[in-house]
Amino acid sequence: MRIVMLGAPGAGKGTQADRISEKYRIPHISTGDIFRSNIKAGTDLGKKAKEYMDQGLLVPDEITIGMLLDRIGGEDCREGYILDGFPRTIPQAESLTDALAKRGEKIDFAINIDVPDEAIIGRMSGRRACLKCGATYHIVSMPPKKEGICDRCGEKLVIRDDDKPETVQKRLKVYHEQTQPLIEYYEKQGVLRTVDGTQPLERVFADITALLG
Ligand code: ADP
Ligand code: AMP
Repeated sequence: MRIVMLGAPGAGKGTQADRISEKYRIPHISTGDIFRSNIKAGTDLGKKAKEYMDQGLLVPDEITIGMLLDRIGGEDCREGYILDGFPRTIPQAESLTDALAKRGEKIDFAINIDVPDEAIIGRMSGRRACLKCGATYHIVSMPPKKEGICDRCGEKLVIRDDDKPETVQKRLKVYHEQTQPLIEYYEKQGVLRTVDGTQPLERVFADITALLG
């Protein structure tokens, strides 16, 4: 099963993708996580990506598309995967569709987690991230068992550099301009499914699993 997660920054894509990955045993691939681990490791890719990420801008397609297509060519992706944060532009979506078509494959589901902008700011200010394993928490709705420490790998949790309110506003603007058109793109392909992302996360997960079967 090949799945794309759509939704504004902070809609809950990563949170749900983690659960879907566990239930359906397919890898969770987050382009944001790949960039953040490169930043942490100090690679050239990380340095380049950080310039854009810190400003709330998208990393250019020339960097992002090749990186993602390489990743989904991996052995662990043969039975499918769940993409979180990719595609984010129409050229990214078209490159993905074309690359899959060459192998006789396609995206089976594009799950759009619908959350209005007003709800996003509160979510982002309470988000805490593990830069080692990619797990995400919220200080109110999903706190870790031990404050400031990742349940899964024991790493110290951090506030992401791009979760400052001014950067979040910029990211929302970029989302509406560049990423929202993908909803129509996948609707035309007949694979779009929308869930109400304002519900508690267990409810959102139940709605998604009901759609996936
Ligand atoms: P995205 O991957 O779409 O940017 P995240 O999965 O990181 O979003 O979620 C953003 C923040 O909102 C996190 O702090 C997460 O714990 C919290 N969150 C996710 N889903 C819900 C939900 N259904 N209700 C309340 N908070 C949520
Ligand atoms: P995320 O972890 O999905 O919230 O992504 C964090 C940041 O990484 C984004 O604001 C972008 O700067 C960058 N990024 C992640 N995925 C992409 C993508 N598919 N295309 C361009 N930039 C991306």
